[in-house]
Amino acid sequence: MTLAREIAAQKAFDPFRGPPHPRQAEVRSPAEIAAYIRQHAQTLYHPAGTCSMGQVVDEHLKVYGCENLYVVDASVMPGVVRGNTNIPTLMLAERAADLLLGV
Ligand SMILES: Cc1cc2nc3c(=O)[nH]c(=O)nc-3n(C[C@H](O)[C@H](O)[C@H](O)COP(=O)(O)OP(=O)(O)OC[C@H]3O[C@@H](n4cnc5c(N)ncnc54)[C@H](O)[C@@H]3O)c2cc1C
Repeated sequence: MTLAREIAAQKAFDPFRGPPHPRQAEVRSPAEIAAYIRQHAQTLYHPAGTCSMGQVVDEHLKVYGCENLYVVDASVMPGVVRGNTNIPTLMLAERAADLLLGV
């Protein structure tokens, strides 16, 4: 959180930074930051994009530089989808089946 604040405070972010979070002034010391994180941090269980399309696989889900190696799961998502990831993953699999069958 400290590092994120430091990065966000850089001049390069001036055009993009919104108003400070209302509680920002209250959460300053390491102890306050730790308490804030304990109270508010959560995970959404939607890891995605570790083999993202365009970086690791092409638009046919084939791994760059490999023959006959495809990745078909949430890891090929170029970014985390806006909603939940289960159905998009199933749709990726449906599409991949068509691609592999040449349909
Ligand atoms: C707690 C939780 C709640 C969720 N709730 C929702 C929800 O409500 N709605 C929603 O849309 N999404 C939800 N998701 C997300 C959704 O479940 C995942 O995005 C989706 O399952 C991703 O599919 P996947 O095929 O990429 O990975 P996974 O479903 O994780 O499948 C990976 C598979 O690979 C297998 N595997 C791993 N390593 C190996 C290996 N070396 N050899 C062979 N097999 C291997 C694993 O056993 C597993 O079966 C939730 C996820 C979690 C963890």
